[in-house]
Amino acid sequence: STAIEATGLVKRYGRRGAAALDDCSFRLPTGRISALVGPNGAGKSTLLAIAAGLMRQTSGQLEVLGGVPGESRAKVAYLSQDKPLHPQLSIADTLRLGAELNPERWDGAYAAKIVEQGDLDPKARIRSLSGGQRTRVALALALGKRPELMLLDEPMADLDPLARHELMGTLMADAAEHGTTVLMSSHIVAELADACDHLLLLGDGRIRLGGGIDDLTRAH
Ligand code: ADP
Ligand code: ADP
Repeated sequence: STAIEATGLVKRYGRRGAAALDDCSFRLPTGRISALVGPNGAGKSTLLAIAAGLMRQTSGQLEVLGGVPGESRAKVAYLSQDKPLHPQLSIADTLRLGAELNPERWDGAYAAKIVEQGDLDPKARIRSLSGGQRTRVALALALGKRPELMLLDEPMADLDPLARHELMGTLMADAAEHGTTVLMSSHIVAELADACDHLLLLGDGRIRLGGGIDDLTRAH
């Protein structure tokens, strides 16, 4: 079935601006990891923010988990590029905050497991963590909601190759275990190719290529 469906989606910032998203139509399958790739300025962040319900499109439609974006916010986790964590809090306090913000769905044991897999001390403060470690905490916070859909904006930025590998492993394990649908962006295709079954290539706000990796890479 379909997790996200766009039909003629358009986003303009301001009345006279160029379209950051220009007549985009696509479908993303449920329970798969999809890669949203394209150069800087292609419209990736814009698409993810609209899907997360943080911003409205100018025209066209975007259906997320069968409804209007934002309507299903409890079932959607969004990881922005700047990963807003409070630097002075410990990891444990950060997760406690996650529990408070998502009382119905919170799975604390699962969030703690994601932190543990990164060999992180729950008592460590966010400000003492590396970029990769912060990403792991942000991921634990997102996955602790047990979301049906994960939207990740450039999660690999600032990560070294090992941390990237570990992040992909965590996401793939989660998708396999819980059937979570993942849409993650990057401006580097190679980072995502191994882990993704579906690809959406954006250029200048338009969909340049979309489909299953197997279909796209099979020789014709
Ligand atoms: P990407 O995430 O692929 O780098 P963005 O979605 O951030 O692309 O940006 C798409 C286009 O929209 C770019 O031309 C960018 O400059 C423009 N844009 C993004 N955010 C804003 C904003 N808040 N106001 C005006 N223009 C914006
Ligand atoms: P990304 O590539 O992920 O979109 P950017 O560095 O382009 O990251 O954007 C960082 C922030 O600046 C975002 O909040 C975005 O909305 C805003 N922004 C991007 N381009 C513009 C623009 N042309 N005018 C105003 N704000 C912008």
